[in-house]
Amino acid sequence: KAKDFGRNQAVYFSYTLDAEIKNKIRLEQKLRQALADDKLMVYLQPQFNLQHNRFYWAEALVRWVDDEDGFIPPDIFIALAEESGLIHELGLVVLRQVCHYLVEHELLLKSLGIEGISVNLSGNQFFAKSFMPQVKAVLNEYKVKPEQLEFELTESVLMENTQQAIDVMQQLRELGCRLSVDDFGTGYSSLAYLKQFPIHCIKIDRTFIRDIPNDQQDIEIASAIIAMAQKLGLETIAEGVETQEQSDFLLAQGCYCIQGYFYAKPMPVSQLKSLKR
Ligand code: C2E
Ligand code: MG
Ligand code: MG
Ligand code: MG
Repeated sequence: KAKDFGRNQAVYFSYTLDAEIKNKIRLEQKLRQALADDKLMVYLQPQFNLQHNRFYWAEALVRWVDDEDGFIPPDIFIALAEESGLIHELGLVVLRQVCHYLVEHELLLKSLGIEGISVNLSGNQFFAKSFMPQVKAVLNEYKVKPEQLEFELTESVLMENTQQAIDVMQQLRELGCRLSVDDFGTGYSSLAYLKQFPIHCIKIDRTFIRDIPNDQQDIEIASAIIAMAQKLGLETIAEGVETQEQSDFLLAQGCYCIQGYFYAKPMPVSQLKSLKR
């Protein structure tokens, strides 16, 4: 009896695994096609500075709406792009679109106070030999100032190969780009390393912001991250700010840079005009 059960279970698992793999392959082919057809779109989420009471920067967030499957979350297709190697092409598409926005919508961005755009990097992209030459070539092609670009890296990417990460970050910094650590607090980067990374800014992960002011532990963690960053001479930005209370709390702690639905959602560039008051 137990044996039968075990066998059924194996059959069941291999069935779902099979379906999962088929779905993945299907989605990967679609993503390849979407890239070829230029179907990916880069949205911008403006970030607000509480000290100056205005927007000052924006994060680029890639969007994919498939004709049949509809909206596919970036967490899903970015992971897929990493596994399949499509991330290099995807990363280049995003970087180029961001540089295009910086040039094409210079006046609109300026009128909103947005001085530059942050681009998320995946590990495979960041550690590739071709990455630095590519960044330089694209900046050159669009005549974008390196100061207008920030790159976001997660802790896990930085801890994957610390020395090489520092090398590439140094090159980006020498070029004039800004650097930030994304989703801070969810990985396990040690404070000793944080000090060695040539970064400008720490992005406090949304999970620590979400339950403020109700969760006392999150209040302590967010305060500690902000205090530590200040001592290390780093800026902080809070992700996922959805309420006035959260914004007030962060201001009181000395975290002046805010990203979240409370100030602005990710949107197509054409919609940025609606933010003007
Ligand atoms: P991330 O870099 O941490 O981006 C922030 C995420 O939080 C975005 O999710 C954004 O839409 C969401 N968000 C912002 N404010 C709020 C808020 O107030 N409440 C809530 N609930 N969410 C908020 P999104 O756009 O789904 O992107 C998910 C992740 O996909 C990103 O996390 C990033 O890791 C990755 N990603 C997005 N675009 C790119 C890209 O161009 N390249 C790479 N390599 N990764 C990307
Ligand atoms: Mg990010
Ligand atoms: Mg993040
Ligand atoms: Mg994330």
